Amino acid sequence: MAKSTKKRPYWQSQPCPGWCGGWHSKSDARPDRNHYSRWEASIARSLEDAHVWHHGDERIASKHKAELYVMQHDEHHSAHVRLGMLSGPGGHGREYPLTRDEAERLGRALLEAADLIDGHHTGGVR
Ligand SMILES: [Zn+2]
Repeated sequence: MAKSTKKRPYWQSQPCPGWCGGWHSKSDARPDRNHYSRWEASIARSLEDAHVWHHGDERIASKHKAELYVMQHDEHHSAHVRLGMLSGPGGHGREYPLTRDEAERLGRALLEAADLIDGHHTGGVR
């Protein structure tokens, strides 16, 4: 991949993982030396009232959302999933880091819960 032949900043010990779409700079502070996935998912959470504010006469509504992406600090050996539960302008909220296993278990549990709504009873994930 062409990306691996690019000149890396001094702090980057290995080429970017194949999924990284991040842009890295020699001036990145240590906590910011992360690889971020090009892939991301954003799911609007419609059951909560939108965050509404006014800019002059304009009424602006922003839905709450769940966002997902993959991240890995350059000094760590494994990536993890970031699940953000965000609200309002600028996406304020909280992000939850999940291991690969935790993300897979959460994904399966969400599918089971959704199937239950349709009347499909499954054995449960646990
Ligand atoms: Zn990277």
